[in-house]
Amino acid sequence: MPAKGVAIVSARAELVVVGGGVVGLAIAWQAAQAGTNVTVVDPAAGEAASWVAAGMLAPASESWFGEEALLRLNLLAVDRFRAFAAALETATGADIGLRRDGTLAVSYDSGDRAALARSAALRRAYGLPVEELDRAQCRRLEPFLSADVQGGVLAAGDWSVDNRRYLAALRRAVTDAGAGQLTGRVARLEVVADRVAGVTLTDGHMVAAETVVLAAGAWSGSIDGVPEPVRRGVRPVKGQLLRLRLPQRMPPVLQRTVRATVRGFDVYLVPRTDGEVVVGATVEERGFDRTVTAAAVHDLLRDAMTLVPVLGELVLAEMCVGLRPGTADNGPIVGGTDVDGLIVATGHYRNGVLQSAATAEAVMAVLTGAPLPAEWAPFTGRTAVYPPAARWPIWSRWSPARSRASPSPSTARWCPAAPGPTPGSPTVTESKS
Ligand SMILES: Cc1cc2nc3c(=O)[nH]c(=O)nc-3n(C[C@H](O)[C@H](O)[C@H](O)COP(=O)(O)OP(=O)(O)OC[C@H]3O[C@@H](n4cnc5c(N)ncnc54)[C@H](O)[C@@H]3O)c2cc1C
Repeated sequence: MPAKGVAIVSARAELVVVGGGVVGLAIAWQAAQAGTNVTVVDPAAGEAASWVAAGMLAPASESWFGEEALLRLNLLAVDRFRAFAAALETATGADIGLRRDGTLAVSYDSGDRAALARSAALRRAYGLPVEELDRAQCRRLEPFLSADVQGGVLAAGDWSVDNRRYLAALRRAVTDAGAGQLTGRVARLEVVADRVAGVTLTDGHMVAAETVVLAAGAWSGSIDGVPEPVRRGVRPVKGQLLRLRLPQRMPPVLQRTVRATVRGFDVYLVPRTDGEVVVGATVEERGFDRTVTAAAVHDLLRDAMTLVPVLGELVLAEMCVGLRPGTADNGPIVGGTDVDGLIVATGHYRNGVLQSAATAEAVMAVLTGAPLPAEWAPFTGRTAVYPPAARWPIWSRWSPARSRASPSPSTARWCPAAPGPTPGSPTVTESKS
């Protein structure tokens, strides 16, 4: 007997997309628009990192030493996002909350100032525009910044999108374009004589397909039959973040994304058009753990209020956990595999929202045999087996102390699956994981 709540469907499609996060849906939308018979399979359990994410579209702010290839890809991605977002808004009539006000990185003390100067130098070395601002200029841009802020760097090309509106618009566009969305969890890829034949769900039903796109985010390696490089190459990287909402009659406190390293801790504040502020995020190697910890909430609030003290007046509306699909080099794994008809689109780590439109374009190129933009070269056809996740070092670039925080024994997870909670009252959802 099939499990309760799982659709009982044995079906056939030209293309099955495994995973209905922003990556899978962006691909499904493009393929359906091109006339392909597409079915997206997702358990719809509200697990997607795409629902939790902060929605920064930030090539410059996310650039780091040794990651020039990823920066080039992210610059391509923000360019592709522009047209993709416009087409999505036109197709659905939805406003996905795109903000083009740039990102202001500020420093708080001398150590932070040194870190900011290093990252400004790196951006210059990569040929990116860097606008350095003194304290007064920073506070003119963002009047609620702490008076202790020392200075900053503005990245005018780093935008943000409301990832939840984006996800909802993609779901609608996929349906309107005629694609099917099937509620279920894929247990196994079916492969016959080195050629993909479809997928089998945990309830035993099979969806036959000529082509399968694997876009299951952090879970991509958990499906039977997935090629070894993907199975071993993608790991979950836990991220906790908070959502603060304005009390009634309080005006928005931020105009643009503000980020900083506060006493060695990285924090970002991403404002939405309705005044909500997303505060993120931890970076933790804890496997599939999805608990909210007291330490993470404490640290994020402390650092956010150090930067913008008035944030203490906002309502703590949500505490969320998401699992980023991490890879050994922080870049995605996109393209064909040794299995005919199996395409992977996963491993987008911290930049999956940003890279979603460019990934859809790349997968369409693979499907049609068109050439891919050169920026994709380091991230396609990756057949090397990566080191097992257990041997990877704890990633401590952003917040070593947060990485050491003990997981709470509680399974409470304050993060609504959908829709968002009513302002003023935190919503508690019991974790099913
Ligand atoms: C705290 C946090 C902040 C972030 N901030 C940003 C940001 O500011 N900007 C940015 O660009 N990125 C950000 N990211 C990263 C971004 O969220 C991810 O890279 C992106 O969402 C990955 O999209 P995806 O569709 O591949 O995976 P997901 O969104 O995780 O979707 C995967 C889907 O696969 C489904 N699935 C799982 N197993 C199966 C199965 N067996 N069968 C079928 N379906 C399955 C899941 O239910 C899920 O819906 C952030 C992530 C986190 C956690």
